[in-house]
Amino acid sequence: MFDLRCPACGASKIRLAPRKSLSDVLLSGLTIYPFRCQLCADRFRTFLGHRTPNPRRSFDRVEVSFPVWFRTRGVIHLDEMGQEGVIENLSIRGCRIRSFAPVALGSRLELEFQHANDSFPITVEEAVVRSSANGVIGVRFTRLRRTDERRIRHIVDVWLPELLPSV
Ligand SMILES: [Zn+2]
Repeated sequence: MFDLRCPACGASKIRLAPRKSLSDVLLSGLTIYPFRCQLCADRFRTFLGHRTPNPRRSFDRVEVSFPVWFRTRGVIHLDEMGQEGVIENLSIRGCRIRSFAPVALGSRLELEFQHANDSFPITVEEAVVRSSANGVIGVRFTRLRRTDERRIRHIVDVWLPELLPSV
């Protein structure tokens, strides 16, 4: 039976991680692959027993549709509301925002999003813009309060499917 778990937190929401180091590549010959826990970000290796392609990213993003408000950090804003958008996908490390707001690559945003009608918004204290094109902004979370991180982890845990045995 296929039952792989994170050695750090015990979660079953794990994914194959990209093989980067020389030892990753050498061990992959024995089908010992790096994995990444999707909830606590622990990286570990384990024996899989069959060959599998090298994945592109470490964190699977869950498809969501959350209204989000954001603004550039450290800038005095006349319009305190900032910009609006919709979060389309989310992992514990970052998200993709659909918005035509002009943002510069590498700029640091502060964002707030609503994931349920009956809860107060989740705040990401700082997120760095990694990509911005055609109304889609990719950000990586760089500063997150523990309570907000826990709430994001919970969303990922609920929405992310278990690792399929065919991996
Ligand atoms: Zn974990």
